[in-house]
Amino acid sequence: MKIWVNGGLRAADDARVSVLDHGLTVGDGIFETVRTADGSPFALTRHLDRLTRSALGLGLPAPDLDEVRRACAAVIEANPAPLGRLRITYTGGISPLGSDRGTAGPGLVVALGEVKRRPDTTAVITVPWTRNERGALTGLKTTSYAENVVALARAHEHGASEALFANTVGRLCEGTGSNVFVVLDGQLHTPPVASGCLAGITRALAVEWTGAHETDLPFDVLDRAEEIFLTSTLRDIQAVHRVDGRELPGGPGPVTAKAMRVFDERAGDDLDP
Ligand code: PLP
Repeated sequence: MKIWVNGGLRAADDARVSVLDHGLTVGDGIFETVRTADGSPFALTRHLDRLTRSALGLGLPAPDLDEVRRACAAVIEANPAPLGRLRITYTGGISPLGSDRGTAGPGLVVALGEVKRRPDTTAVITVPWTRNERGALTGLKTTSYAENVVALARAHEHGASEALFANTVGRLCEGTGSNVFVVLDGQLHTPPVASGCLAGITRALAVEWTGAHETDLPFDVLDRAEEIFLTSTLRDIQAVHRVDGRELPGGPGPVTAKAMRVFDERAGDDLDP
């Protein structure tokens, strides 16, 4: 396994970042997860756009996207795999303890991991903790994921694979690592980005390709939605068969199954000409 660390490829055992990297000490960093198939990254341009938006939102210098592309290509070439997940991490860089920001320029790490096959349907839970729709970090894909780790652990304790959050005003928001869609009266809806959710790339493609409505929804819509599904880079579209104690009928319902079909057909298109 070869990993790109600050300018070059290293064997995984020699890949090091400083213990004083601001990303480690205070979580001052951002990331992207990009899936790859047969050496091609999926929707890389959209991911790099979001990486830049997250960097600027956090006050980090805009990443050099030519360098990030070069790093991704080098890592993919050095670690051939039919399916993979690229992890691009960009941090505040090394900084003396107590300083506001890295002083030696930002850090860039690109690694490739394995992709586990996900089942078509999954169970989810709701959690009592909220997403802040008006925070300084809202909508940025930062490495500060500890809250998601806690919520996901709660989901696993309940035999579920994802935990769903409301925002601070009780509206449906997102999962720890996914966006959420619901079917109401046969119509597909997903919360707007103003709910505080991440502007997921799979979410955007699903909205584009299915015509789903972006709708401000109460959290308890989960108690009555006819169908629910999740979207994310590593799930694509995954149907929900149980939310808390409530079983949803069958496998993927008709609207979800159609969205999955459309996604499978269109996701083969070259999104990065
Ligand atoms: N919401 C959160 C909090 C996420 O971490 C992710 C992905 O990691 C998503 C939504 C889904 O985004 P994408 O479809 O770009 O993977």
